[in-house]
Amino acid sequence: AKAPADPGRVTPMMAQYVEIKAANPDSLLFYRMGDFYELFFRDAEIASRTLGIVLTKRGKHLGEDIAMCGVPVERADDYLQRLIAAGHRVAVCEQTEDPAEAKKRGAKSVVQRDVVRLVTPGTITEERLLEPGRASLLVAVARRKLTDSSALYGLAAVDISTGRFSVLETPQERLAVEFARLEPREIVCPEAIHDDPELKEFWRELNVPVTPLAREGLDAASAERRLKEFFGVATLDAFGAFSRAEIAAAGAALAYVERTQFGARPPLSPPVRDTGGATMLIDAATRANLELTRTLSGERTGSLLAAIDRTVTPGGARLIAERLAGPLTEPTAIAARHDAVEALVTDAPLREDLRRDLARVPDIARALARLSLDRGGPRDLAALGAGLTAARDLALALGQQRELPDDLQKAADALAETDASLPLKLTETLADELPLNRRDGRFVRDGHDPALDELRLLQVDSRKVIAQLQQRYAAETGNRTLRIKHNSMLGYFVEVSQAVGEEFLKEPWRATFVHRQTMSDAMRFSSVELGELESKIASAADRALKLELTIFADLTATVLAEAEPIKAAALALAEIDVTAALAELAASEGWTRPLVDEGTAFAISAGRHPVVEAALKRDGKPFVANDSELSPPSAKANGGRICLITGPNMAGKSTFLRQNALIAVLAQMGAFVPAAHAHIGVVDRLFSRVGAADDLARGRSTFMVEMVETAAILNQAGPRALVILDEIGRGTATFDGLSIAWAAIEHLHEINRCRALFATHYHELTALGDRLDRVTNATVRVTEWNGEVVFLHEVVPGAADRSYGIQVAKLAGLPPAVVERARAILSELEKTEREKPVASLVDDLPLFAAPVRRAAPVVETVPANDTLREALAELDLDEMTPRQALEALYKLKGLG
Ligand code: ADP
Repeated sequence: AKAPADPGRVTPMMAQYVEIKAANPDSLLFYRMGDFYELFFRDAEIASRTLGIVLTKRGKHLGEDIAMCGVPVERADDYLQRLIAAGHRVAVCEQTEDPAEAKKRGAKSVVQRDVVRLVTPGTITEERLLEPGRASLLVAVARRKLTDSSALYGLAAVDISTGRFSVLETPQERLAVEFARLEPREIVCPEAIHDDPELKEFWRELNVPVTPLAREGLDAASAERRLKEFFGVATLDAFGAFSRAEIAAAGAALAYVERTQFGARPPLSPPVRDTGGATMLIDAATRANLELTRTLSGERTGSLLAAIDRTVTPGGARLIAERLAGPLTEPTAIAARHDAVEALVTDAPLREDLRRDLARVPDIARALARLSLDRGGPRDLAALGAGLTAARDLALALGQQRELPDDLQKAADALAETDASLPLKLTETLADELPLNRRDGRFVRDGHDPALDELRLLQVDSRKVIAQLQQRYAAETGNRTLRIKHNSMLGYFVEVSQAVGEEFLKEPWRATFVHRQTMSDAMRFSSVELGELESKIASAADRALKLELTIFADLTATVLAEAEPIKAAALALAEIDVTAALAELAASEGWTRPLVDEGTAFAISAGRHPVVEAALKRDGKPFVANDSELSPPSAKANGGRICLITGPNMAGKSTFLRQNALIAVLAQMGAFVPAAHAHIGVVDRLFSRVGAADDLARGRSTFMVEMVETAAILNQAGPRALVILDEIGRGTATFDGLSIAWAAIEHLHEINRCRALFATHYHELTALGDRLDRVTNATVRVTEWNGEVVFLHEVVPGAADRSYGIQVAKLAGLPPAVVERARAILSELEKTEREKPVASLVDDLPLFAAPVRRAAPVVETVPANDTLREALAELDLDEMTPRQALEALYKLKGLG
């Protein structure tokens, strides 16, 4: 009898699996077996839970059942996407030799396998896993300590799906703003940064997967070596002068790309300095609040981006998103973009020509990236062919213009520099209908290669021969229903009815037909002739495929030799697309060219909110355009205006506030703006906050969030900032809120001296208009008609006479009894207010700024036994982060 299998025995395949898994402990291992990727043990449990696929068992390992699940190779993309989205990383392990080879070594040998790729959120290239209109950035972080408490950070952003590679350096305070602009898919950094206790909270709040990298090889010297090697240069100077932190970050990014791509080489461009330093700083809260690229609920629809995006290519869609995320701060660069847009607003026929040609342009940047990573297919080659053909047409259309603005001229030049013969070669070689996968074959055009044609003819001929054979067998056996068929198990076979089949088992047919299978109503046979034919067909198909793959490799090599000009052309196409799209938008919506200069003006006439306007238009309602004036009141004035807007709820205050911020963003990204006129002194930093926005997800009270964010603004806004504050102070008791709002406006006026719009329902605040020279009051007009409030949405100078809160509540359907009772209470309250208005109370207080400026002398008079005052005096407000300020506040509260 056979001895029972040794429970401690490990099969050779499992031994191989365990070894590979041990080398990739942080990733789910996709282990290739035939047409499936199998997952085992814990990986299988995780995948089956995440993907909702069946968990089975496959034999035993060290006496335990092996949990297993599998995904078909053909559909692996879908599963990969879901695993990555759920925060996993996947190591793809392929068979690296032909199973036939393994068999030659012995019946028991396992096929060699190896991990060929790590799939992580930041290193995806598959078309189906990428959003066409969105960059897919991996950002590496490096740090250079300056002192114990301060450091400079180097950031390197890589998009391996397009080859973009940029670096920048930033102080710690701006780290969050830069991440908010770049929106990375994945961040990598040395363990020391990843595990830094001070940054723990920061990483958690970013909500982006952060991958730690082991320390080795991440110093600036190794980084430099790695970069030089990758780009084949003797010195990095040719790319620009980079700081040590930037080089270290770029090196780390490259190290991670190499680690995940295993020798496949993405078409990275040499690193360039990111425009980060020259863009408007916009923190994550402001971006969210203004709904620049996504709405508060996270969707693209309803965002500013969705409202302005008229691009027709994927590359253009990515570029317009990038420009919107990082508006410029250099008036000349901004004007250059406006020049280009203006040229295409004026020349409508040219714009239409360009857009028609652009509409044919596929995603050539990503097709190129897949080809260079050896992950490309015939359709990627075709995409390049079509893209480059369109590029030549565009270059021609632009070349016929007598005079082009600089930006368009540069783009046209880049297009003209692509090799004209390449797209021709691609179209000549590739068939009209293409398979997704190169292994499917039949993508080379008939007539392109004589040897291939011959092999294909052989296949076609063989089929004819089979048809003839069927006829002959039928005639010889006198059986007209005899058929020659094919399936993957038997190959070619003869099929006849049961009755005839019985005859075939006997002489004389036995000599010709060999029985293979008996079905319920038929029998199947093979024959020597069929077998010969079969191997002839198979070998022809085999040789044809080999030939096609060689042609594919040749084409790919030709394309990759042109990688640099192709990438330049891809960028140029995206730029032309964005320019033409913004021109189209301006022309169709009646937007105008803004003037952006070095001053601190902010004068908008007849401004509109593009998203609200579009929504109203769909309902057939008009949008009421409004002016806005925040320029300094005189040449001598030290600071811009603060406009205080009062008016009832639903009057349009928030809309007005935001539209002004959006106009600044649009103007500085290089777009025309929804206004009759706009004159804007460059805004270097934009803040927008809404009072009482809930943030329960982060476990903070509403009011706390509001105050942290207000603190950030008061601490950071400089004279060129634009600040939008909507209902700040609403999250607490009336008098607390009013006092905080009051003090905040004083601070903005005296210390920050920036342009600001402040919406409030505290009417008491309008008294500030008389007390502070640069504060103006505005209100949104409403009138009453038949006891109902009517919103006119018209912003006019002055203060709201009353809040209409009760009327709005009535509109909302509050029961009449409640409305009546509220009216009575209100009139009582108003009586008390008239007797002692808040404004008169504050008259006796010194202006906010005074004590702050003279902080030291005031402190000297503090009685020694007052701990609260002592603690206060010790605070160095200028050195505090908003968070520290809050903590200090809590401490003070504890003392008091
Ligand atoms: P508030 O902040 O004063 O409560 P909103 O700005 O939220 O008011 O505006 C309320 C609604 O009024 C908007 O959803 C929009 O439909 C309408 N609205 C606002 N501004 C305008 C305008 N300028 N023209 C036409 N309708 C407007």
